[in-house]
Amino acid sequence: MNVLVLNAGSSSLKFQLISTDLDAMERDGDHRLARGAIERIGGHALITLRPEGKRRLLREVTLRDLRAAIEFVVKWIASHESEIPAIQALADIHAVGHRVVHGGQQFRRSVRIDDQVLHAIEDCIELAPLHNPANLRAIRAVTEFLGPGIPQVAVFDTAFHSTMPETSFLYGIPYSYYRRFGVRRYGFHGTSHRYVAFRYRTLRNIPRDEVRIVTLHLGNGCSACAIRNGDSFDTSMGFTPLEGLMMGTRSGDVDTSVIPFLADKEGLDAHEVERVLNKQSGLLGISGLTSDMRELLAEEREHQDRRVTLAIDMFCQRVRRYIGAFVAELGGAQTIVFTGGIGENSPEIRARICQGLECLGLELDPERNAAHVDGRTGSIARPDSKLDAWVIPTDEELLIARDTVRVVERGFA
Ligand code: ADP
Repeated sequence: MNVLVLNAGSSSLKFQLISTDLDAMERDGDHRLARGAIERIGGHALITLRPEGKRRLLREVTLRDLRAAIEFVVKWIASHESEIPAIQALADIHAVGHRVVHGGQQFRRSVRIDDQVLHAIEDCIELAPLHNPANLRAIRAVTEFLGPGIPQVAVFDTAFHSTMPETSFLYGIPYSYYRRFGVRRYGFHGTSHRYVAFRYRTLRNIPRDEVRIVTLHLGNGCSACAIRNGDSFDTSMGFTPLEGLMMGTRSGDVDTSVIPFLADKEGLDAHEVERVLNKQSGLLGISGLTSDMRELLAEEREHQDRRVTLAIDMFCQRVRRYIGAFVAELGGAQTIVFTGGIGENSPEIRARICQGLECLGLELDPERNAAHVDGRTGSIARPDSKLDAWVIPTDEELLIARDTVRVVERGFA
């Protein structure tokens, strides 16, 4: 089955084409046929398409909206120019898997999209006003362009965390706010945490219900997850992705009293302060330079800028704090797992995070740490380390494709 995986944002679209079926996933025999992205939808858009094993193709086209973007991509994929042998016509795309950010309390796993599911995703807009509308537009665009017959599956960022107990997901505020409005912690990046946990147990040959680990997704957005018996037990993101670790432009945990205080001082309303916490904070806010960790590390090496070092040190200390908290919540763990752009590629940040974690039994191996970059998977701790540390590149698209096939072929993920 050739599955088109779509991750739609407000003005961008990431896509992959993955060929897999129930047998292939048993053997890890899935094939990635192509990947790409569109930026600046709504204007002069930039589109990249990389068929597997071939050079990257680039196009600049004016694309009015997400529907036009999806139509363009699908036609391009099916054209001779893309040279994807498995896709000769639109009918060679057999199903579409969507990353949907917020599944609220309703969706605990991936589901086939029908009218009822569409309405339920609509109901979650209130909880994810920035993300769910784009996901819904993408779903409708596919129906319009490829026809109502094409199976579409929604894979939710929140679903993996639906196993969190009340003690993890409730805030210490009046219980009625949870009951009346669904104010609780939902958690995000679930597909990534679930994927690396799955990879870890497969590689170590551990039964699912014996997995007890802390996963760290460190990219532009960052979150930690405590996984017990293979399920999410706690995670650092909350009602929205703002809570928890310090991120590229998000503050992470802040005393909420800061919000009315800043609103008064700056003459802003609560929504505007929230925007500052989401868009102008984190690594960017502290360094005053950039949200990009690679640039910060280069800047630190060249200019020893105090605020740059401070931003990186704060970032690392926050991660360390959550590792300590989550290992304690789990009553001990087999390993911590690094993933995401920073987690997969930066031995330096990993080393700075793990500094002092000998108290938890974690002894990093500097050579193994340095060797695990560019998509390499494996342990970076010393063989005698009581708490292990792994690097496992995430692959959310693969999991979305696999869930799509499972839902379409056997009815559940
Ligand atoms: P997203 O969360 O948007 O998917 P990524 O997972 O791609 O983002 O992570 C992007 C982050 O990873 C950026 O801060 C980038 O600088 C960082 N990053 C990528 N490669 C490296 C590297 N070699 N060293 C340090 N940081 C890196």
